[in-house]
Amino acid sequence: MKIKLNLSDKPYPRRCAECNEIAVQPATVSYDASIKHDGKVHDFSIDRLPVDQCGKCHEVYMTNESSRKKSRALCEHLGLVHADDIRRKLSELGLSQRCLASHLRVAEETVSRWVNGLSVPSKSLSVLMQLYFNLPEVRQALSSDSALQAEHTEMMRRSITIDMSMPSARSAFPLREFPEATLRRQREFELNPAV
Ligand SMILES: [Zn+2]
Repeated sequence: MKIKLNLSDKPYPRRCAECNEIAVQPATVSYDASIKHDGKVHDFSIDRLPVDQCGKCHEVYMTNESSRKKSRALCEHLGLVHADDIRRKLSELGLSQRCLASHLRVAEETVSRWVNGLSVPSKSLSVLMQLYFNLPEVRQALSSDSALQAEHTEMMRRSITIDMSMPSARSAFPLREFPEATLRRQREFELNPAV
């Protein structure tokens, strides 16, 4: 089934872009989804997909609710963590989206898109997130490692006076490639300056 995206947020009934009648109302359809995710196309059915549909010509339009329902169905089909899970777990653990983003090493925007059902995490990030949510040790490890990262960024900031906003400076000093051993020495020195 070919579904058009309806961007209108006018009250119902809305004008149909196909037949021009003011006859578009909320409806549910059974939908054969074909969704590309992680470089593969996945085919599955959604029993009752909420959509907008024209009462005259029966043209179907996708709404934001349809998109959310589709990404939820995809998550269930592929065993991925979905928006509701992430929201519930963050609230249970008292964690912010920013915190989760930092611990998983993804952009805050990425987490925001997951939470709002606008995109779904990859299989590998889903596995990591399940471990993160369910095992305190994993949360501990990922958060202390990001604390280390922050410390290292601060150290770089102090020792390098080059403007890091310059693209050439960023490529000359990729922060992530700072050697682990140097970081450890720095930490030991801070803990025990006499060594
Ligand atoms: Zn129509």
